[in-house]
Amino acid sequence: MATIKATCPSCGDVDLGPRQVRAHVVEAIEDSESRRTYAFTCTTCGDEVIKLADEDTIRLLSSAGVRVERTPVPAEAREPHRGRPINYDDVLDLVLWLESHDQIAEAMALSSGR
Ligand SMILES: [Zn+2]
Repeated sequence: MATIKATCPSCGDVDLGPRQVRAHVVEAIEDSESRRTYAFTCTTCGDEVIKLADEDTIRLLSSAGVRVERTPVPAEAREPHRGRPINYDDVLDLVLWLESHDQIAEAMALSSGR
């Protein structure tokens, strides 16, 4: 079993097994914006230590047997988007439009049981 050397800010170097280290990658659309961390509970002081990592470190931890959890980018984030994002005025316009269209408001009131 591989021994992983990590550094606790309070205790200095500690030796850990692969199951004592957790690696996490939160993927972003641009790979350079992905957030990579690894974490462990210090075997000396018991503190939870979380550190930023680069892809090489994650790859090294993975090859040492550390399970790497990846949070992928939601598929809708990769969809092409056209037009500008909606803003407060758009929402307000929608509310005003709904208020002026009584049939929709009545149908919604009926379906909600009011
Ligand atoms: Zn410590």
